[in-house]
Amino acid sequence: MLTVFNIQRYSIHDGNGVRTNIFFKGCPLRCSWCNNPESLDPAPSIMFDERICHRFGECLKPGNGAIVLENNNLIINRNLISDTTIYDNICPSRALIVSGQEKTVSQIFQEIEKDIPFYNMSGGGVTLTGGEPLSQGPELKDLLIQLKKRGIHVSAETSLHLPWETIENYVNLIDLFLADLKHLDNDKFTKFTGGNATLVIENFKKLDETGSKFIVRVPVIPGFNFSSIELSAIIDFAAGLKNASEINFIPFHSLAKEKYLMLGKDYMFANQRNIEKSELKFFTEYAEQKGLISKILN
Ligand code: SF4
Repeated sequence: MLTVFNIQRYSIHDGNGVRTNIFFKGCPLRCSWCNNPESLDPAPSIMFDERICHRFGECLKPGNGAIVLENNNLIINRNLISDTTIYDNICPSRALIVSGQEKTVSQIFQEIEKDIPFYNMSGGGVTLTGGEPLSQGPELKDLLIQLKKRGIHVSAETSLHLPWETIENYVNLIDLFLADLKHLDNDKFTKFTGGNATLVIENFKKLDETGSKFIVRVPVIPGFNFSSIELSAIIDFAAGLKNASEINFIPFHSLAKEKYLMLGKDYMFANQRNIEKSELKFFTEYAEQKGLISKILN
């Protein structure tokens, strides 16, 4: 089974042509700015939006103490929920939802098939995202083999924070890697993501050696990498890779604030100002001087 939390059909803002974006759950990193906090845990997650809760009380009915009402406040003890399926569609007002469902390869493929005529017309395809899509189990390879057989273009957004053997397994099945390069300094990388920058850097070099097509993606995060020294070092590294023709900058925004609240998670960037695209002009020009196509994404 594969665990997905969204299949977004007919997307026209995420790469070439019309795309079907498949959002997978589970990620080896814990980036403190992550825009998809519902993707982090590999298992389905309970999300609760206090603002639209009408106190219908349906979610109290399982009676296992995981969700209780105290002084008219709903208290969710997520550590007591071992089976989220009992909460699937339980809330009439959708204030409480389960994010993430296990799906078979054929269930996912049935959704993809609906968009195939649009891929043909627009030069689009499927984008795997998440979370870290490449951290799914072996069924992911089955899905990719089916897509390959149908001649469907596949892009994958990845942290590259995985054992090289895992990435290598997919090299011939993914047409374009959209690979994050967040920081080159190990201490800072670990402090903000919980991961290991050296692993990512080494994987970039190995991916480059395979001749795979990839775009380097840089989330630009205040207090983490938003400085001339840090971003220039990232651009220099990207420019030194043979097959990185393009670099994309993704300026920080705090739109995920509500999702952190709904998941009961802390968000250290809740009050951080957004970075404007105009603040990245210097870096796009520098990247272009270095021979990279440079774009700022939304
Ligand atoms: S790699 Fe992406 S999905 Fe994983 S924690 Fe970082 S920003 Fe979130």
